[in-house]
Amino acid sequence: MREELLALAKLAEMDDSARDIDAELKQIPQSLEELRDSVQTLETMLAQERQQLAEAEELKVQQGAELKERNEGLQRARKKIAQASSIREADAAEREVEANRRAMREREEELGRIGQAIEAKTASLAEREKDFDEAKGVLQSNEESSKARIAELEEQRGQLLNGRDELAAKVPKPIVKRYERLKAGITNAVLIIKDGNCPGCRMALPPQLTIELQRANELHQCPHCRRIIIHKNVID
Ligand SMILES: [Zn+2]
Repeated sequence: MREELLALAKLAEMDDSARDIDAELKQIPQSLEELRDSVQTLETMLAQERQQLAEAEELKVQQGAELKERNEGLQRARKKIAQASSIREADAAEREVEANRRAMREREEELGRIGQAIEAKTASLAEREKDFDEAKGVLQSNEESSKARIAELEEQRGQLLNGRDELAAKVPKPIVKRYERLKAGITNAVLIIKDGNCPGCRMALPPQLTIELQRANELHQCPHCRRIIIHKNVID
């Protein structure tokens, strides 16, 4: 078992040396995804604001048309006053003039409010477009630099893990599997024991286990933290 444990210890050491690289390789796509999400959010907000602006402009046209109509009504009513043949007719035409004037004032006020809303919306839209362009730029440059960084990391990883397959082949498959499972959930899945303590969890190991570790007849795990433990005498 000694040879196998030695190979496992080397394998774990190799994997540990690539741990930071693995973490970075995992983290890069996550950061990119977050950036893409925020660009997407900005794009959605931009589309909403454009829609709101279009609606306000449509409303402006509508109110403008109504204002024009009321103005024409006012002119017609004024003519009626001039041509009235009785006081009753003149009074009715006068009321028509007033009604049109009131409606025109309301339309004008409404147009003023719409104009302000359009102005505010146009300003915030410009701001939003700037944010969106900036975010797109950041995303693009991040995508490029990430690509370069990934290539660099992959190369480093390849160098660090050069010969890993050959080492893994020296370790019995069930042990490799057990190691891989442990490694997925814990750092330093294989530890070298130098005294009576587990360097992973700092707990004291049973004396009998320390003796068995030195015999190296089988694979042992720390009874407290489950890490695979190998005595330093076995690998020296
Ligand atoms: Zn432990």
